[in-house]
Amino acid sequence: MSEDARQDELAARLATVHERIEQACIAAGRHPDEVTLIVVTKFFPVQDVVRLHRLGVRDIGENRAQEVAAKVADLDPVTRADLRVHFIGQLQSNKAAHVGGYADCVHSVDRAKIVSALDRGADRELDVLIQVDLSGRDSGRGGAAPDQLGHLADLISASQALRLRGLMAVAPLGADAAAAFARLGDLASAVRADHPDAGWISAGMSGDLEVAVANGATHLRVGSAILGSRPAQR
Ligand SMILES: *Cc1c(COP(=O)(O)O)cnc(C)c1O
Repeated sequence: MSEDARQDELAARLATVHERIEQACIAAGRHPDEVTLIVVTKFFPVQDVVRLHRLGVRDIGENRAQEVAAKVADLDPVTRADLRVHFIGQLQSNKAAHVGGYADCVHSVDRAKIVSALDRGADRELDVLIQVDLSGRDSGRGGAAPDQLGHLADLISASQALRLRGLMAVAPLGADAAAAFARLGDLASAVRADHPDAGWISAGMSGDLEVAVANGATHLRVGSAILGSRPAQR
């Protein structure tokens, strides 16, 4: 595909997603400014990040440490400084200390060990969200059990470098996304009662962004609807 064709394709798909978000906001009686679109560029080359930046995208999401570190290093410094990089993947505590080197925000904090590793490694303020496991069992996809949220939120607040911004979740496979995101909204309200700055709700992907907007999501993480289907997933 020629350079321009890919640019045009991304522009068209991005416009479609913005239109979906706008319609979802109208239906929910919300203002589109309340919702931030994070374009998930995992598995796609840095050239697509540059194209998206040209189209006005300022928030990108990535889920693998090595991949995002390499991509960020390939960006020219001006473009890099103009982007917010959101890390949305599962973190290992031995790698967490380095996240601040390539990400501005981490959505996937789910245990005390990650809080301390991130805090130790950070050389500047880092925005974090607690990932919640809404499956009701250990799904293996990461996320803290709902009864751990208060404890983790307090640990983050007591840290030196981490700023608690809110909660993140993925709708459990096979579950009713509306019920899951409604639950997430309730959990977020409970956290916000003790931590007033933690107002972000990161929920909703290509297939369920409307449901997420209807249930109060402030940040959507959309990949395939904009970039196309990913090459073989690992
Ligand atoms: C890949 C990914 C997304 C984007 O999913 P799409 O269905 O491609 O929009 C969102 N959130 C997380 C945590 C992801 O890993």
